[in-house]
Amino acid sequence: MRVSQILNPTLREVPAEAEVVSQKLMLRAGLIRKAAAGVYTYLPLGLRILKKIEQIVREEMDAKGGQEVLLPIIQPAELWRETGRWDVYGPEMFRVKDRHDREFCLGPTHEEIVTDLVRGEVRSYKQLPLLLYQIQNKYRDERRPRFGLMRGREFVMKDLYSFDKDEAGLAESYQKMYNAYTRIFSRCGLTFRPVEADAGAIGGSGGTHEFMVLADSGEAAVVYCPDCDYAANVEKAECQPQPIKSETVREDYSLVETPHMKTIEQVSDFLGLGQHELVKSMLYQGDEQIFLVLVRGDREINEIKLNNMLGPFVNLQLADPEVVRQTLGCEPGFVGPINAPKDLKIVADLEVSLMKKAACGANQAEQHYINVLPERDFRLDQVFDLRMIVAGEKCLKCGGALKEARGIEVGQVFKLGTKYSKALSANFVDENGQEKPCVMGCYGVGVSRTMAAAIEQNNDNDGIIWPIPIAPYQVIVVPVSMKDSQVVETAEKLYEELLQAGVEVMMDDRDERPGVKFKDADLVGYPLRVTIGSKTLAQGQVEFRLRKTGEMELVKVEELTSKVQ
Ligand code: ATP
Ligand code: MG
Ligand code: MG
Ligand code: MG
Repeated sequence: MRVSQILNPTLREVPAEAEVVSQKLMLRAGLIRKAAAGVYTYLPLGLRILKKIEQIVREEMDAKGGQEVLLPIIQPAELWRETGRWDVYGPEMFRVKDRHDREFCLGPTHEEIVTDLVRGEVRSYKQLPLLLYQIQNKYRDERRPRFGLMRGREFVMKDLYSFDKDEAGLAESYQKMYNAYTRIFSRCGLTFRPVEADAGAIGGSGGTHEFMVLADSGEAAVVYCPDCDYAANVEKAECQPQPIKSETVREDYSLVETPHMKTIEQVSDFLGLGQHELVKSMLYQGDEQIFLVLVRGDREINEIKLNNMLGPFVNLQLADPEVVRQTLGCEPGFVGPINAPKDLKIVADLEVSLMKKAACGANQAEQHYINVLPERDFRLDQVFDLRMIVAGEKCLKCGGALKEARGIEVGQVFKLGTKYSKALSANFVDENGQEKPCVMGCYGVGVSRTMAAAIEQNNDNDGIIWPIPIAPYQVIVVPVSMKDSQVVETAEKLYEELLQAGVEVMMDDRDERPGVKFKDADLVGYPLRVTIGSKTLAQGQVEFRLRKTGEMELVKVEELTSKVQ
């Protein structure tokens, strides 16, 4: 390809709206243009990079037995009603109506559609395991679309869904995907960490992992142990540690279903309550979340003063109103101290950890209070989201001091179990003729977000430094003058040679000053630059430069192609 022919409008100025480096550089390097908030056009070079990442993802999915399909973007509301998610999904879902007033959504994810496919086509255990995936646009009306491709409202995701006949099968599929993800992000040349994303430490079931590219601009906080391999998600971007506002506490909360089922005993273990018995708990709702306040101790209820300490708080979502009724003996919406039976099923939203931070400071967190009431016993604006204090805590595995880092969630693997297969009756007949629901997993890679994450990790003052496997072109050939016929001739010859040798090469054949060409080459981030100038050419040499290190070397014209290869 030739620079003179490609639509690659580079910018010298940093676009005002750009907040993070990947967004700035993608706009400046002419890879993307904004169409609306969180909606982008990919220009030719940008699309090439996206396709490279897609191809790596595709190869790794295929290697694990994944079969590529293409599921519809437009999905009927009925399917989502069958699983109950039409009403639960909320404002993040783009909803549309057709001319007959039938409701649809633009797929934010595809569990419903793919499970519907499987219930129609799979009958027998012999057809399992089945791993179906697609690389497709997703639509989410994000509350804060921002950071360019990092948090779009239209974005490209690879999503794979696994269907197995039992838990053991699911464990195998899950491990396959975990390994594939490790390969994908390594092949993309990224520094990343898989982190436990639910309270995986509780019981260590490993129900979900997020793959985090480590970068200061990351919206997610990760805690990790420098002494062992323990790493966990601290919380999602929008839930930065912040005081809970008292006006958001209401009694009419609705319960949200999530798959992170944990027993209260497991939570108690995680919280380090040890043999102490959890005797009291309390429910109330904070900003969009339900908090269950767990209070431990073998003391009588009124023994402890309540006004200067919070006790451990756990960010929890209850699975099912019925569970609340049965186990807590109260209606959902109840606020106040209650007895929590040991087998209470609770659902931890991602990391479950202690919230010790209180008005009195963290050092008094060792005391625990019971019978506490928000506003009566503590001010809600003194309650902080618990995840902020995890750094500095002891590692659950080895006791080392945890550290915190920022991360970009580029992928997630998830054990779904039978939630969707049961809701949609995606059953199969097993070896004994018994009908059973498929055991499912889902696995997403943010393809477009990975492109942004790669830039967050690989850039300098001059621009992007693409890792070779995802570079738009590996080499750019730069004749310093288009007026010197010998220079042009040699450049053309080398360009052809490289093409013949199968190298992905760009030729900067514009009649521009060398400075302009060099600046653009650095900005776009071609890993290798071959410069042809009259002085070196007089000695039969051209200049070979590595974008990453700036290292330059003079190479004989006839040796250039083999050098590049
Ligand atoms: P986040 O926590 O950042 O909102 P998510 O957990 O909601 O992401 P998943 O449902 O796990 O996202 O989707 C799988 C992958 O899709 C994510 O790991 C991420 O890489 C990507 N992704 C999710 N939302 C977006 C978005 N708005 N823009 C770009 N990529 C996204
Ligand atoms: Mg999200
Ligand atoms: Mg997430
Ligand atoms: Mg996720």
